[in-house]
Amino acid sequence: MINFNVPTFTSKTTEYIIDVFKEKHASGDGKYTKLCNQWFKKNYNLNQALLVHSGTAALEMAAILSDLDAGDEVIMPSYTFCSTANAFLLAGATPVFIDIRPDTLNIDETLIEQAITNKTKAIVPVHYAGVGCEMDKILEIAKKYNLLVIEDAAQAFDSKYKGKRLGTIGDMGCFSFHETKNVMSGEGGLFVTNNETFTERSEIIREKGTNRSKFFRGQVDKYTWVDKGSSYLPSDVIAAYLYSILEIEQDIQEKRKYVWNLYNNAFEGLEKEGKVRRPIIPEYCTNNAHMFYLLFNDLKTRTNFISYLKENNIYAPFHYIPLHSSPAGSKYCKTSSKMDITNNISDTLVRLPLYYDIKEEEIDKIISTVMNFWRN
Ligand SMILES: *Cc1c(COP(=O)(O)O)cnc(C)c1O
Repeated sequence: MINFNVPTFTSKTTEYIIDVFKEKHASGDGKYTKLCNQWFKKNYNLNQALLVHSGTAALEMAAILSDLDAGDEVIMPSYTFCSTANAFLLAGATPVFIDIRPDTLNIDETLIEQAITNKTKAIVPVHYAGVGCEMDKILEIAKKYNLLVIEDAAQAFDSKYKGKRLGTIGDMGCFSFHETKNVMSGEGGLFVTNNETFTERSEIIREKGTNRSKFFRGQVDKYTWVDKGSSYLPSDVIAAYLYSILEIEQDIQEKRKYVWNLYNNAFEGLEKEGKVRRPIIPEYCTNNAHMFYLLFNDLKTRTNFISYLKENNIYAPFHYIPLHSSPAGSKYCKTSSKMDITNNISDTLVRLPLYYDIKEEEIDKIISTVMNFWRN
């Protein structure tokens, strides 16, 4: 069986995890959490980078920091993972869904303005497959209407838009280190911001609403409950795992891009014959090879394709059930545009296996099985 995803470990992973116990600091904000936070601050040029327990947690922090009132609206694509919407829903706001662009499958920035009402507080661009949304246009709209921009950069590790790192362009950015992402710690995430309004408060919200971080830096004598908050920090065991992966991130990225390009070249002919469509990446966006997908012409062909791969022991999933048509989405959220592209992509997209440890013969088998599907 070729799995869709296999998590990565290195020899350092266990070494660092054992070291956490030697340090006798297994709760949050130990040695490895600090190393990870510094890694991102330095490499991403950020004034705040905080390790959290999931991408979902990072989004929840961003929602709390947005100071939303009941009924406030937050614009986002319907074609995304449910955490994008859930975080804002939990903060009392109403997610408002709009359609995506047919090329990058990112939020259609030309639909944002018509979705804005006097209740709108924020826009949440999701960088699908690690390819940047039209951030220039989105920031321009946000400025005009005084809205926050929160980037769901869960899939966007190491990716850029016009030379700027995704996740660091808006007011806040949210990364995920779930085991299916490029860089992983099993479960894990990162909250980042360069907006000074949120630098200090983000530390407090992450630490149960206390000023504990300030206390540890010796900036206050006692620590106490000062604001709303929750517990978003991971154990240092998780941070040790992540740090061992950050040390090989360049190898991971190189390998993923190599596999991505093998797929992309192999299926060029199928695209010319009109059988599939491959990912489209604008020239001012980089490709972090988070995902390789194929788009089929209709649901029936896709269903047959997934079954054919399964018969050949290859697991290739599809996603997402559009949030606007999901049970929770239709109950709690609003839809503010036609959803033709979202509905179509949801029916026609397939993701191929792509992970660091995938073997050359497995890639060969996947490519030949995809080609054979069309010979039957
Ligand atoms: C993975 C993902 C998330 C959630 O991240 P977790 O770490 O699993 O909580 C949110 N949004 C998008 C677009 C994702 O791909």
